[in-house]
Amino acid sequence: MPVTQTLEADVLRLQDPELAEILMGELARQSTTLQLIAAENFTSKAVLTALGSPLANKYAEGYPGARHHGGCEIVDVAERLAVERAKALFGAEHANVQSHSGSSAVLATYAALLRPGDTVLAMGLPFGGHLTHGSPANFSGRWFDFVGYGVEAESGLIDYEQVRTLARTHRPKAIVCGAISYPRHMDYALFRAIADEVGAYLIADAAHPIGLVAGGAAPSPVPYADVVCATTHKVLRGPRGGMILCGGELAERVDRAVFPFTQGGAQMHTIAAKAVAFGEAATPAFAAYAHQVVANAKVLAEGLAAEGLALTTGGTDTHMLTADTAPLGLDGRSARGRLAAAGMVLDTCALPHGDVRGLRLGTAALTTQGMGEAEMSQVAKLFAAVLRNEADSKRAREEVRDLAGRFPPYPDE
Ligand SMILES: *Cc1c(COP(=O)(O)O)cnc(C)c1O
Repeated sequence: MPVTQTLEADVLRLQDPELAEILMGELARQSTTLQLIAAENFTSKAVLTALGSPLANKYAEGYPGARHHGGCEIVDVAERLAVERAKALFGAEHANVQSHSGSSAVLATYAALLRPGDTVLAMGLPFGGHLTHGSPANFSGRWFDFVGYGVEAESGLIDYEQVRTLARTHRPKAIVCGAISYPRHMDYALFRAIADEVGAYLIADAAHPIGLVAGGAAPSPVPYADVVCATTHKVLRGPRGGMILCGGELAERVDRAVFPFTQGGAQMHTIAAKAVAFGEAATPAFAAYAHQVVANAKVLAEGLAAEGLALTTGGTDTHMLTADTAPLGLDGRSARGRLAAAGMVLDTCALPHGDVRGLRLGTAALTTQGMGEAEMSQVAKLFAAVLRNEADSKRAREEVRDLAGRFPPYPDE
């Protein structure tokens, strides 16, 4: 069934041609450009179907068996299924699948463990920390006293000695490990040891790597962290949303921190879609996917390094790469613009040292489309040609269109 049908685009076209046009425009954009944004992916049609289902119309405040609304008997089964699948997938004692987003999962986690004014040690924003890790523009920076750790200047790797020193000096109530632009695995055992030394909670914000964890392609924070918060829409390939995993002893605090403390009614269509995604993520096919994502990222990293880009940490363990384009005489922003004109869509990111921005990209979406190592080498060459201005952007745009056409994200279209 074509995705346009899944989305009932025909109904929409008849009733609201203006909006239908926008929807078709976005479908065309996604299908003719390369999605290199490290946080994006393409869900299955089963996930999209759950998202567009009548469950979207159900109010369900509270938890299965204890709702504030009537008529929840069926959606209760869906939520219990999502919870059981998440617990089994990640080996967690407890899962809360109601968080509307990764940020709401972090907010609820802080609400479960902290009080306003508490000290929290997290990765500094210039080094890859997320807005919820203490940005002054975010609730986290306003309500908590954040101390930031960074990375070593030479290696670009987390400076664990600094983490330990800052922990001893500031005695934080919680330590957060997790980042939006760190391409390497984190040493969760070492974070746990440092947290234990100073009596801090360990929170893993695994929004990015959780999909690799599900597929066995990255180490799991679950055995080490008191609470793991995550998104379900990045490498994990589920609907846009969040989740929280923790031990049984924190289950009630976490649940109450999500509802009623920071959220109202659960989004049952999204929770059903999360259940579908967890079911998919438990299959051998998903494990193969997760490993291919990493293999592709390594080939892309090697290709870009060979073309002269300076990769932070020299490479990647994950789906993500961050790179400085300065060696090619370009700052990150103009590089992103030039690549976008050629149909290669990605982000800029802060670079650990210095003021210039770099590029952040990932292989989750391209790998879902079925691209492998050969295509990654092609992308690396195309990328560098565009940045060096060797390829005129029209020709590069055509090559991108051709590549995307050979690996359609919505194959039946
Ligand atoms: C993506 C991400 C988030 C936020 O997720 P949203 O769903 O965009 O709110 C939080 N923390 C980290 C580390 C992330 O990578």
